[in-house]
Amino acid sequence: MMTKKTKRVLAVDDDGLVRKTLEIFLREAGYQPTVVSGGDEALAALSEQHFDLLITDIRMPGMDGLQIIQASRDYCRQMGKPPIPEIVLTAYNDEPVKQSAARMGIRDFILKPFRAEEFLRTLERNLLSR
Ligand SMILES: [Mg+2]
Repeated sequence: MMTKKTKRVLAVDDDGLVRKTLEIFLREAGYQPTVVSGGDEALAALSEQHFDLLITDIRMPGMDGLQIIQASRDYCRQMGKPPIPEIVLTAYNDEPVKQSAARMGIRDFILKPFRAEEFLRTLERNLLSR
């Protein structure tokens, strides 16, 4: 039986303050976070270890969050693994982004600035649905 402590979460955001917040929230809630600033680091992390959940910002220089999610899905498919559940972070209620995400079948959003309670509830919901 997996415990909450064993759940590995990969979080991607280009904003250092958001990364710090994600790291703190995830650690305090007992997850094992890997927090990175962009697509290259995210893909490297995905190839190095298993993750139970991917949380990504959308608007970033270089690869955007939707490209990272697509790359994660492609990687899992190549490896014969089930896709990693995905949560998208958006800075505000960004309709074009939400529509693109919905077309990709992305299940959940967290609007920034986020609060710990709401953030952790969204994580639980996505981890427990597996
Ligand atoms: Mg950003």
